[in-house]
Order: sequence, then structure tokens, then C-alpha cells
Amino acid sequence: MTDCLFCRIVAGQIPATIVGETEHTIAFRDIAPQAPVHVLVVPRVHLPDVAALGDRAELLHAVVVEAAAVAAAEGLAAGGWRLIFNTGADAGQTVFHVHAHVLGGETLGALRG
Ligand code: AMP
Repeated sequence: MTDCLFCRIVAGQIPATIVGETEHTIAFRDIAPQAPVHVLVVPRVHLPDVAALGDRAELLHAVVVEAAAVAAAEGLAAGGWRLIFNTGADAGQTVFHVHAHVLGGETLGALRG
């Protein structure tokens, strides 16, 4: 059994509130939301970070397209939304299965926390 948290969510071994599924991705609500809408979009395959995702053009495309679809479904298209890939320790990445944070539902603060 993998010890990757998001691989286990993809496999259905850990519960999550899933809001979207595609051939290549799943999208689920962040367990500790930082905005009224906070959804994570992850590729089904394990890749550690967005640098590795950049080597898989079809998966990078799938993640970004799904992020936009989630934003639209969550009612964020008109007001706008933010897409974040934390990458590495200095950025605060804590789960090393690449994931895009989709944030919105209010006027978001400055980019640097
Ligand atoms: P990052 O800090 O960019 O690696 O983001 C990891 C995110 O995963 C954080 O925003 C956490 O709140 C979120 N998270 C951790 N465990 C879970 C879980 N079981 N279900 C949903 N989100 C989670």
C-alpha cells in the first residue's frame, strides 16, 4: 500500500469530498479550506510536484482544464479565482503528490502569506 496521502484518496482508501473526476484527474475539497472555495485538483498518477508535471504535457493540460471546470462549476468564473502549485519546502508544500489549489469565492488577499 502506498504511503502517499493523495494516491490513497485517488484509490478510494481515504475519504474525500470529491467534486470532479476525469480520466486523468480527481478534484476534491481541501480539508482545511483557506477560502470559501478551496478545491485540490490532482493527477491520478503519482508525480511529486509541478516541475515533474511539466514533463507530462497531457497531464498538465488535464489538471489545468479540470481546475477551470471546477472553478466554473463552483460559480467562480465571473468573479475570478486563483490557481496555486506550492513547490518544495520554501513554498510550504506538504503533500508531495502534485496538486493545484483552486481558490476563490471572496476577494483574495495578497499572494504572499
Ligand atoms: P500543500 O501545502 O500545497 O502541499 O497543500 C496540501 C493541502 O492538502 C493542504 O491545503 C491541506 O489542507 C490539504 N489536505 C491534507 N490532507 C487532506 C485530506 N485528507 N483531504 C483533503 N485535503 C487535505
